[in-house]
Amino acid sequence: MKYNFTSGAELLEKCNELKMPIHQICLEREAELAGLSTEEVREKMRVSLNIMKAAIEKAIEEDIKSMGGLIGGEAKKLTKYRGSSRTVCGELMNKAMAAAMGTMEVNASMGLIVAAPTAGSCGILPGAVVTIGKEYGFNDEEMIDALFTASAIGVIITRNATVSGAEGGCQAETGAAAAMASAGVVEMMGGSPEQAIHAASHCLQNVMGLVCDPIAGLVEAPCQGRNAIGVANALISAELCLAGILNIIPFDETVAAMYKVGKELPMELRETALGGVAATCTGCSLTTKIFG
Ligand code: SF4
Repeated sequence: MKYNFTSGAELLEKCNELKMPIHQICLEREAELAGLSTEEVREKMRVSLNIMKAAIEKAIEEDIKSMGGLIGGEAKKLTKYRGSSRTVCGELMNKAMAAAMGTMEVNASMGLIVAAPTAGSCGILPGAVVTIGKEYGFNDEEMIDALFTASAIGVIITRNATVSGAEGGCQAETGAAAAMASAGVVEMMGGSPEQAIHAASHCLQNVMGLVCDPIAGLVEAPCQGRNAIGVANALISAELCLAGILNIIPFDETVAAMYKVGKELPMELRETALGGVAATCTGCSLTTKIFG
């Protein structure tokens, strides 16, 4: 297959050889694999982009309560705070955090989201791509391109490691989501494929070792906060790479290290709700309150 790649190194080689950005290689690969035209594949991605945008809007406009009752209303609170006072993180980061946390609220209330790469990390990619897209006036086509860039990073992590909290901890879920989002933002902002891949490395390294400890086994808390941190990770890593601050460890080695760390995590810290904050006194009493 002309456009296939199995590692970051191979992806970069293809970009250089074919003189294409990551998003174009990924689009062609997808079309090749699915036996569809590139236009048809783009239309499928457009559906995902629209779902992402709708989830963000829903959380900012409506009152949402999660199934477990641990989260709900955070996107609205952030938006209100932004409108009423100076913000610590600045307007852009506040918007990205609200989008990420809001998407998690929609997920936790059984609403429609795009699990990219997972439901537990579903706020990070839209939080970064849609927020930056709107802020800098990128159109839907450019945001769709960014989602293809992100997909390429997701393909590599899924193939060579994992994006599952149950297998590799939260570093694998929200770390992978941030890596995908960061690469997408770098290319959308005019960065090179090399800068995009380095941004993904930064993201994975920034949260290496992060455990998966959902309270009551529900994908609500601390998951939602980790989506806020995840979107910050994505934007900070993109900023670093666009400024020319690349990572000293190659992406493929970083992915392998993340996977190894994930396998070394005890089962208590891999989505079983038996460790971390899930196992604190308050975590346990919340579990009892929800499930009796
Ligand atoms: S703590 Fe676990 S369930 Fe929650 S987002 Fe992280 S990996 Fe997913």
